[in-house]
Amino acid sequence: MIKAIRGMRDLLPPETARWQWVEQVAREVFALYGYREIRLPLLERTELFARSIGADTDIVSKEMYSFPDRKGESLTLRPEATASVLRAVVENGLDKGGGVKKLYTLGPMFRYERPQKGRYRQFYQINGEAFGVDAPELDAEVILLLLDILQRLQLGEMRLLINSLGCPECQVKFKAALGLFLISREGLCEDCQRRRTTNALRVLDCKSVHCKEILKDAPVIRDYLCADCAAHFARVLELLRRFGVAYEDQPRLVRGLDYYTRTAFEVVAPGLGAQDAVAGGGRYDGLSQQLGGPALPGLGFAIGQDRLLEVLPRELLGRDREYKVFLVALGEAAKEKCLNLLQKLRENNLATEMDFGNRSLKAQISQADRLGAACVIIIGEMELKDGKAQIREMATAYQQPVPFNEVPDHVKWLKDKTLAETNV
Ligand code: ATP
Ligand code: MG
Repeated sequence: MIKAIRGMRDLLPPETARWQWVEQVAREVFALYGYREIRLPLLERTELFARSIGADTDIVSKEMYSFPDRKGESLTLRPEATASVLRAVVENGLDKGGGVKKLYTLGPMFRYERPQKGRYRQFYQINGEAFGVDAPELDAEVILLLLDILQRLQLGEMRLLINSLGCPECQVKFKAALGLFLISREGLCEDCQRRRTTNALRVLDCKSVHCKEILKDAPVIRDYLCADCAAHFARVLELLRRFGVAYEDQPRLVRGLDYYTRTAFEVVAPGLGAQDAVAGGGRYDGLSQQLGGPALPGLGFAIGQDRLLEVLPRELLGRDREYKVFLVALGEAAKEKCLNLLQKLRENNLATEMDFGNRSLKAQISQADRLGAACVIIIGEMELKDGKAQIREMATAYQQPVPFNEVPDHVKWLKDKTLAETNV
């Protein structure tokens, strides 16, 4: 058989129920903070990403799925969502009218990276983006929102790492100092030797152990922040403290994308090995203009859904607790009866299944068990004659006859009783 592409996984049931649960909780929390959903194309012009993320970044220089379409225009499968959200906001005039605009989006991203635990070529993000205001209160709110989602999903241990990357003016001064520091260093990797002159900030993001070692003594951007940027950052931290958020101020934190200004953050969780970042984000006040748009400050975050699901406690994700009913038909006449009952139960909002394979009672009961049915309704010749179905509760194996026309009400009653008992 033809196989899936390397690094692109199938997400299978029952695991998909956990994914749905995560998405549902995220949607609910977004709504609490006034975010509304935006759905975007997966394909964009390559230029959108090259100009926003930055040509020297790993993403643009080696990780994008780019190809010419049939007319020869270069298109790219989106490696991240922020640039697309911003494009859509400006293109559709959502930025008009002033004030803060809050949007969220969910979906797959594509990066040609080396597949390993927590790293895939198609992976999923939950993105929140807020536009129109450069106030530090918005930065704090966005971070609170991110942590709120993660906490409600019961992510146990996590650490918030935060830094300020300054405005373009701070960055120009810092890059000059960093460049000066790097120019005399021996042994930087090939990429970094090039980047130290083209885009020195990118060297800080290098994954090579050797480069990291060299960078230990490098200047930090904190020492180059202008008064406005320093005050902005101080206010963000003050608000985080006020709302009881434990953060780790990390003056050396940088992100893998060029567009970040001022606040930048990451959430890391233990148990993920080397790929320990569950979410990342930051402010990107110059991005809109970089793309040829109006001045439009903003910030956002992306949660890596694949990694998040890896670290969430498994037992909490019991969306499979749905009350299921299974119909067992023994013989052709019973099957006819069951077909009617099947639709009747569904009309009553009871999740009901049956197997049309005419298998033995034993085989059908064990299938009901595999499917996690809480209740099995058995109809054979005897039952047809008596006008009653046998209703069996799987947990206790308690079984009783119930007249056909009373079956839906009886099962509803059983369901309520069971859910009340298990909902401690
Ligand atoms: P990393 O340093 O781990 O490569 P990143 O800085 O490239 O992460 P972002 O672009 O900020 O990541 O994306 C936000 C989140 O998306 C990450 O924190 C991570 O959880 C997730 N993510 C990024 N790349 C991948 C991938 N290839 N596979 C799975 N999840 C990913
Ligand atoms: Mg990366």
